[in-house]
Amino acid sequence: MNQTNTTIVRCASCGAGNRIPAERMGTPAKCGKCGSELSTGDEQTAYKMRCSGCGAKNKIPASKINAGPKCGKCSTPLPTGELFKPQPVMVTEANFDGEILKSPLPALMFAWAPW
Ligand SMILES: [Zn+2]
Ligand SMILES: [Zn+2]
Repeated sequence: MNQTNTTIVRCASCGAGNRIPAERMGTPAKCGKCGSELSTGDEQTAYKMRCSGCGAKNKIPASKINAGPKCGKCSTPLPTGELFKPQPVMVTEANFDGEILKSPLPALMFAWAPW
């Protein structure tokens, strides 16, 4: 298993995969192939939040989490503080990496199987 702490960020312009070290994430980076800006902050460290007003899913970049973000659809302020309250998360094979391995907080896991 490859344990290097890098993230592949796909260039929006040319589609080349760029390997970004974890400590460089969130800082400006450029595509090694075409030189255009890579969105290291927005997509990788964005939080997803459902609007309590209209139910729309909002993506909030980590850099904007404390800037009082609003719903992109109905402009209801999003209570981003709730993102950091401990809460049970349903983890499946599909989101195990994101929820457990990349969690900034210690994760307590209760595992069960339906069979
Ligand atoms: Zn590129
Ligand atoms: Zn809304």
